[in-house]
Amino acid sequence: MIYIGSHISSAKGYEAMGKQALKLGADTFAFFTRNPRGGNAKPIDETDVKKFLKLAEEHKFGKIVAHAPYTLNACGAKPEVRDFAFRAFAEDLARMEYTPGNYYNFHPGSHVGQGSEEGIRLIAELLNHSLKQEQTTIVLLETMAGKGSEVGRNFEEIRAILDRVELSEKMGVCLDTCHIWDGGYDIVGSLDQVIEEFDQKIGLERLKAVHINDSMNGLGSHKDRHAKIGEGCIGLEALKAVARHPALQGLPFVLETPNDDAGWAEEIALLRDAASGSGEK
Ligand code: FE
Ligand code: FE
Ligand code: ZN
Repeated sequence: MIYIGSHISSAKGYEAMGKQALKLGADTFAFFTRNPRGGNAKPIDETDVKKFLKLAEEHKFGKIVAHAPYTLNACGAKPEVRDFAFRAFAEDLARMEYTPGNYYNFHPGSHVGQGSEEGIRLIAELLNHSLKQEQTTIVLLETMAGKGSEVGRNFEEIRAILDRVELSEKMGVCLDTCHIWDGGYDIVGSLDQVIEEFDQKIGLERLKAVHINDSMNGLGSHKDRHAKIGEGCIGLEALKAVARHPALQGLPFVLETPNDDAGWAEEIALLRDAASGSGEK
């Protein structure tokens, strides 16, 4: 089995997100900790969070996968960009502790011409500054499509960041199917080999969540444009095979497809059904 859900708006708070997830037939979800384009986060309403935690327990939700704002760039060149990254990261990690033991996923960053080696160094610097021994949240590095100067464009770069983080046990990886396909990993023709390579380069024990998306572009295109499940270049059969892959059972899967509620509900049911035939827990 897999846990599956979509991105949900955090505008109305935690309990509202939980209820919306239930409406879609989801048992996990993703949400932006603040406006995805940046800005400040709303103050936490503890009563609201408690109601959500109760609902999540009652309905046996899997881990939820919070998403950092897109504007958070840990390896930007401008001081104000890095300042925002440090501040938002610290604030978001503090918020995450109201829902203990879940995931905080972020895009490693764009090195904007400084080179990937310097990018990796700066990202690790932010993590070493921000991670705390006492936190219960696991921080996930998202695998990227390699658009522009994105860091995390292949498994080696993800591994290089992980190798530089001191509190390594607080770190995991979120695999985005659209991104790795665009990054050149052929999950259509050789899914087993891609997962094997992930295991060799990073380690499957690091894999904590999956972003399940189709891609508007071809293998190795480095574009990052998501498509609905079955309507892109990856295709329905390959994405079903991801959902039922034995190495991925038990993980939260998050849809980031261009959809409305009815479309997400349909994709959730479809992929849950595909995974339920796997016989794996
Ligand atoms: Fe993302
Ligand atoms: Fe993603
Ligand atoms: Zn993407």
